[in-house]
Amino acid sequence: MHVIAIDGPAGSGKSTVARRLAERLGLDYLDTGAMYRAVAFAALRRGLDPEDLEAVARMARQLEIVVDADGVRVDDVDATIEIRGPEVTRAVSAVAANPGVRTELVHRQREWVRGRAGAVVEGRDIGTVVFPDAAFKAYLTARLDVRAGRRHREVTDMAYEAVAADMARRDTIDSGRVDGPLACSDDAVQIDTSDRDADAIVEELLQALGEATT
Ligand code: C5P
Repeated sequence: MHVIAIDGPAGSGKSTVARRLAERLGLDYLDTGAMYRAVAFAALRRGLDPEDLEAVARMARQLEIVVDADGVRVDDVDATIEIRGPEVTRAVSAVAANPGVRTELVHRQREWVRGRAGAVVEGRDIGTVVFPDAAFKAYLTARLDVRAGRRHREVTDMAYEAVAADMARRDTIDSGRVDGPLACSDDAVQIDTSDRDADAIVEELLQALGEATT
């Protein structure tokens, strides 16, 4: 199995880059952040406290989550738009710090990859925990002001300061959690995307990939 792992913090450009890279390589693409968002979405809909470890983990184990090119469905409810909204974004880091949720989703991510010839998988812990033996690993990053600016352009109804503060808060929780923290694998190609566009990064990765696999 041929996995390309793309990790990095919010707003690092990894979704755009990972999606385009998958297209260029003719591989399937998995957005693992959408899976954590799907669990947060379901917890909020059921009125669960996102910090309630037991209840949220139990729910996650029973939840049907479908992430594909058409969007995200959670127990047959279309959640494509809502998982990107401010409520889910606020709750998702607590849900993602839940060890029971992580165990379940990491298992599903490995299952998803099994039976595929190859895939680009994007997240926070893909190269370190989910697929430590990935064929190729990249870690994208960017300055906080740049990352917040990118996210602010997507969520136009929030002030820049609020977006930047929320992002810094999520970075802290994601990097500090015990289980599967946001981290750069020692063998990952690191790229600062602050002053570059996505296509240039895709080209750089294609070149590095060619060198790594020949
Ligand atoms: O990538 P995105 O910003 O959509 O991810 C949402 C949240 O999901 C992150 O802030 C992080 O808490 C969590 N996440 C994670 N592990 C992954 C992918 C996402 O903990 N592999």
